[in-house]
Amino acid sequence: MARRKKIYEGKAKTLYEGPEPGTIVQYFKDDATAFNAEKKDVIDGKGVLNNILSEYFMVGLGAVGVPTHFIKRLNMREQLVRSCEIIPLEVIVRNYAAGTMSKRLGIEEGTALPRPIVEYCYKDDSLGDPLVTEEHIAAFGWASQQDMDDIIALALRVNDFMSGVMYSVGIRLVDFKIEIGRTYDGDFQRLVVADEISPDSCRLWDIETGRKLDKDVFRRDLGSLTDAYTEVANRLGVMPKQSVQPTKPTLIN
Ligand code: 5GP
Repeated sequence: MARRKKIYEGKAKTLYEGPEPGTIVQYFKDDATAFNAEKKDVIDGKGVLNNILSEYFMVGLGAVGVPTHFIKRLNMREQLVRSCEIIPLEVIVRNYAAGTMSKRLGIEEGTALPRPIVEYCYKDDSLGDPLVTEEHIAAFGWASQQDMDDIIALALRVNDFMSGVMYSVGIRLVDFKIEIGRTYDGDFQRLVVADEISPDSCRLWDIETGRKLDKDVFRRDLGSLTDAYTEVANRLGVMPKQSVQPTKPTLIN
């Protein structure tokens, strides 16, 4: 079988050239990293869970009219996506204080914010993805003013959708990170939600107990990451089913 051309290997995913021009295969790895890869592990089944959860969120976003790069899931670890130019920003939306916002501003984790707050980090591992302002983004030409208007609108629509989906299964969407890609149809350019949306890139807390069901379980050594992600997938009803029942031997007369 012909080997596929690897385009990029990231911390949690590998990208391969897709079967058609303008497509890419995203392979979800089991590797988990935190604190800019200072903490690393391999967590059995994480890639499968993130592939299925990201498919679920991207398909749902598409159904409510939010453009994404997602085309289809190919198998347990791979999905086909449209290739796009990734804008070098991590777009973070926060509904409750947590993580770096709590540290930076001294706000207790879990404090409800007066309204969703959108932040941007410049995607550069060697710099630790620093927080930047719209001034930096405009001055360094990472995105235009029109792009920024579109990015904020997309991020808030993703927030509304994801908050509702999570609330319906008893989970609070504390915050999340998305990446935005630029796609071209001839001369027409549009921005789409790219990369992945999964418990790796969201903070998800059980509404009743506050139990963490996201990557903080790994970052903060709070137990089994697979159990946490499986709980999210189970509540959403997207756990892969045992599709093939073992067959009994048939007696042939
Ligand atoms: P914080 O800035 O508090 O570390 O993260 C805010 C939100 O964005 C959290 O949901 C976190 O999981 C997500 N996030 C921030 N940076 C990254 C990143 O580099 N990779 C991933 N997967 N998620 C991130």
